[in-house]
Amino acid sequence: MTDAARTALQQLQQELDTGAEPQGSLRALIRSLLDAPAIGIDLDGCIDEAPEWFRTLSYVWPGNVYVITYRRDGEKARRDVAHFGVRCDEVILVDRFDAKATVIADRNISVYFDDQDEMLLHVPEGVTVLKIRNGGNFDFDERKWLFSDVTGRQI
Ligand SMILES: [Mg+2]
Repeated sequence: MTDAARTALQQLQQELDTGAEPQGSLRALIRSLLDAPAIGIDLDGCIDEAPEWFRTLSYVWPGNVYVITYRRDGEKARRDVAHFGVRCDEVILVDRFDAKATVIADRNISVYFDDQDEMLLHVPEGVTVLKIRNGGNFDFDERKWLFSDVTGRQI
């Protein structure tokens, strides 16, 4: 057993002994035992497009959950994440399109959800990218994806 797992197990035992809610320590124990990878989720056009899905995913995912958002107001972003009921270990603000890719690499995120191609261009190749469809990236009348010369190439 690793030191991290032992510490998490001791914390869980302490919480169970005191009647405290053990969700956090259970998650930490599972994370340390499985060494589960982290996931990253965009907020606007992503979590708000499918809040039930992301809320459920965030609670069953054993690894860290990061919300990465192109916003300036961190407090509002954290309130919105809480409003949607999404569990997250950290809300990270970025101020450039390519900055999300840097955060993804730095936090060792293995799966990333976003709706904007501009945010995905620089994501490392080994990261699984899952794109959320919405009215900003898909024309529902014509049933076609929307992209620019910068983000797409017609084949
Ligand atoms: Mg977005």
